Amino acid sequence: MGEFDFIARHFRPLAGAGAMELRNDGAVMNLPAGEELVLSSDTMVEGLHFLPDDPAKTIAQKLLRCNLSDLAAMGSRPRGYMLNVSVPPNRHYDESWFTDFAAGLAEDQKKFEFHLLGGDTTGSPSPLVLGVTILGSVRQGEALRRDGSHEGDGVWVTGSLGRAALGLQARLGQLKDEDGSLTLAYRVPTPRIGLSLYGIVSAAMDISDGLIQDCGHLAEESGVAITLYEDKVPLSPAVRQHLSHHKERILLGGDDYELLVTCPPEKEAALQAHCATHAVPITRIGEVSKGAGVRMLNHAGKPLHFSRIGWQHF
Ligand SMILES: [Mg+2]
Repeated sequence: MGEFDFIARHFRPLAGAGAMELRNDGAVMNLPAGEELVLSSDTMVEGLHFLPDDPAKTIAQKLLRCNLSDLAAMGSRPRGYMLNVSVPPNRHYDESWFTDFAAGLAEDQKKFEFHLLGGDTTGSPSPLVLGVTILGSVRQGEALRRDGSHEGDGVWVTGSLGRAALGLQARLGQLKDEDGSLTLAYRVPTPRIGLSLYGIVSAAMDISDGLIQDCGHLAEESGVAITLYEDKVPLSPAVRQHLSHHKERILLGGDDYELLVTCPPEKEAALQAHCATHAVPITRIGEVSKGAGVRMLNHAGKPLHFSRIGWQHF
């Protein structure tokens, strides 16, 4: 199959305004007056970010949703994306696989109201590599950042943590996922698109590499220390039942794609009210103080010690 036919069959139907049906050398994008562009990229590699026998549809959704989560962390709404696909030869990535993959993209484009703008397709001697560059917009000067936390702010997290990290273990046959909720969280994260936290939170990021490590990034960028309380971390019932055997995996594992924010005490009621309006659970799990680094205290107020800090790519 030729590259151009392949693109026309699978990706042309996904192209929206500005993509000019993928018939030109580039795309054109307009932004509403008073808004600025927010850009982010995420790449997924077979065997590392997804398993070859994960459904093509959920691989497509995870690819878009980890990018959407970065936009959510910036307080931005999605506008479009560029897709780069490197396909290995002689594998099960055939016509029907890409039909399902494109169906997953189409479903999430509709759900999150954005569309394909362009991209590139190549062969690859190595595993399947999928890359997305996502483009979003935000009112001028209103992008959320990691560097605004102050002493006295609370540390808050959306949703619950650890489901995806345990979902991967379930996929690898290491634990039982009785209701399937862990595997689903691993395959199809829930990006917190749609919240408007500018003017409420002092700093924000999404949790992709694990709570402790990502809190470390926030603390470092803001020049503060963060204290977390183990018994405040929100866990689903399916995760809680594995807490004694998989504590590190739950607290340090990645792929949560929840928002981590800090919020001054006088804005906490607004934060809770806003999240309630959007049916997004949010929990206060710690606080910001002077100093540096992250520590987590157990119910007795003793610091927990971990054998590692979180997911490292290199
Ligand atoms: Mg991120």
